[in-house]
Amino acid sequence: MIYHPDNARAFVCCMPDFRVRPELIQWLVQVAHIPFERIAYVQHPRLSSCVYNRAVATALQMSGPGAHLLFADADIVPINATAPLLLADADVANAIYQTEVEEAFDPPDAFHSGLWRTTREVLEAIEPPWFAWPVNADGTEITGCPCGYFAAKVRAAGFTIAKAGFVQHRPKSRPPRSSAVTPSGQTRPGRPS
Ligand SMILES: [Zn+2]
Repeated sequence: MIYHPDNARAFVCCMPDFRVRPELIQWLVQVAHIPFERIAYVQHPRLSSCVYNRAVATALQMSGPGAHLLFADADIVPINATAPLLLADADVANAIYQTEVEEAFDPPDAFHSGLWRTTREVLEAIEPPWFAWPVNADGTEITGCPCGYFAAKVRAAGFTIAKAGFVQHRPKSRPPRSSAVTPSGQTRPGRPS
């Protein structure tokens, strides 16, 4: 699938403690050539899987341009090496970034949802939910991230996944509240910048 910016939309997935990075919006507008009015923000107070599902559901509900769809975590910072994502010829293309699991991007068709693109056709071919947290047999442990669930459905529907380009990703953290006091009695600084 060749990317067509004239027929594209972007969805920024916002979770608590994530600040939308201006570099992301700048990249969407200047490099991916998606105008501001075709960038939407989706959020959920707790679960990333719900944010991603809301983003996909919102994309499929929209009329007008939107055959090509980009999705990004709000804290993604694109770099020069991100541009190949727009050139990849696959049904689902995702940019590589550093995650808590070092080998996360080792498989040739690995998929993680920091910054990715696909087409409306692919998402319409997959039954919701698109994303879900995987758990072990008795449901007592989470065994991965919600991305693998989506990737498995993409492959089962006969579509291709490719890695293309790199992005920087600020891992989710729980910074102390600005009023928190450390054991030593010092007031902690606010959220690190
Ligand atoms: Zn993932």
